[in-house]
Amino acid sequence: MAHRYDDSNIFARILRGEIPNRTVHESEHSLAFEDIQPQAPVHVLVIPKGAYVGLDHFLAAASEAEQLDFNRTVAEVIRLKDLGDGFRAISNARAHGLQEVPHYHLHILGGRSLGRMLA
Ligand code: IMP
Repeated sequence: MAHRYDDSNIFARILRGEIPNRTVHESEHSLAFEDIQPQAPVHVLVIPKGAYVGLDHFLAAASEAEQLDFNRTVAEVIRLKDLGDGFRAISNARAHGLQEVPHYHLHILGGRSLGRMLA
């Protein structure tokens, strides 16, 4: 499917430095920052710096270097936030996934037992 990226979204604005963020880790191709409305003691968003709408777009179109960098950033967040007792990684996509911000992001949640969540 075609993935049309709208660069007026809030994460694009964060990447352009137009609005502030609480950075957890930054690398060449990725940025990890605190979610503004945390749903758990740890709630970090990891985004690629490239213009990808959602997970499927990122997997289909991002270079190997971008994907490796993204995965390393996720691992670094897990290490920095001391999530050895566990965590949850979630990506919402488009309408059925209730994605609000149309720039690919992975939620990393932890710091407490998160309960069952399937839908
Ligand atoms: P989505 O529903 O998966 O698209 O999640 C979007 C997330 O972005 C939500 O958890 C919001 O709290 C978060 N969010 C929205 N605006 C900002 C911001 O400016 N800084 C950090 N997080 C944000």
